Amino acid sequence: MTPFTYARAADAATAVRQGAMAGAKYLGGGTNLVDLMREGIEHPNALIDVTALSATIDEGEDGSLIIGAAAKNTTLAADPRIRRRYPVLSRAILAGASAQIRNMATVGGNILQRTRCRYFYDDAAACNKRKPGAGCDAVGGFNRYHAILGASVACVATHPSDMCVALAALDATVQVAGPNASRTIAFMDFHRLPGGTPERETLLETGELVVGVTVPALPFATRSTYRKIRDRASYAFALVSVAAALDLGEDRRIRDIRLALGGVAHKPWRAFAAEAALRGQPLTETAIRAAAETELADAVPLRDNGFKIELAKRAIVSVLTELGGDKP
Ligand code: SF4
Repeated sequence: MTPFTYARAADAATAVRQGAMAGAKYLGGGTNLVDLMREGIEHPNALIDVTALSATIDEGEDGSLIIGAAAKNTTLAADPRIRRRYPVLSRAILAGASAQIRNMATVGGNILQRTRCRYFYDDAAACNKRKPGAGCDAVGGFNRYHAILGASVACVATHPSDMCVALAALDATVQVAGPNASRTIAFMDFHRLPGGTPERETLLETGELVVGVTVPALPFATRSTYRKIRDRASYAFALVSVAAALDLGEDRRIRDIRLALGGVAHKPWRAFAAEAALRGQPLTETAIRAAAETELADAVPLRDNGFKIELAKRAIVSVLTELGGDKP
């Protein structure tokens, strides 16, 4: 492991000042970064511990929830306001990792965790994300877990977070502090598709620090849920996951909907096409299936993951049918 210095920042301004040095990395719970350092994938020369920064969950005047980046995943999942108002978010976090990991992992770290593509972690494999220009062994290799939407010839990795799929569905925003200014980034824009630069996974610039996430008020999100389909019942990364919130009228027509998919792309995949197809439609299996077909129309399977296309469609039908079945 490359030698590194360690400093614990007391506030965001100090963290950003310390994080501005070349080779520095911010450290949350360390549940991904420390693994990557042990494997020799990440080798920062300085770690800035940001776990002393804001970890509160506050309510804004507009009904939004403002979550400090140092809040633990466990805290978020158990918060009564989140469980009541955004069950999709609580369920996604609970599906994401064991209790031990949730107790350590922070919201900021969860957002910035890196792909679990096995070739990314294998120093002997070609990986454009780890070493730009090296090639991608996943394209012709074992790619059961890889992307079917938005991938490129340079990288077919998927984003590993469950929490992020829920935040994408909920139209969250990410608050960022930087060396020169602070800014807010829409969650849907925060993560990137790989294109020709898969080593760049987010819109963050060098030295920028995630300080919080805001979840806007969405009254109909009381009728929301998260479904994760994986190879084993114990903790594993998603083959396909669905985050959904449904606003259903008395006439059983869909007044509004939020829908996002996990396990299918380099970023949480907001299903805008399916949402548009379903607004105003009756909640029937036929309508949902047609919307799912529209969303997956551009899916491109790899050798081992063609099953994900049908799996995603069936998961969308199942989740929305179940969500519409009972009063929230
Ligand atoms: Fe690397 Fe992406 Fe290819 Fe995996 S899919 S080997 S992360 S370039």
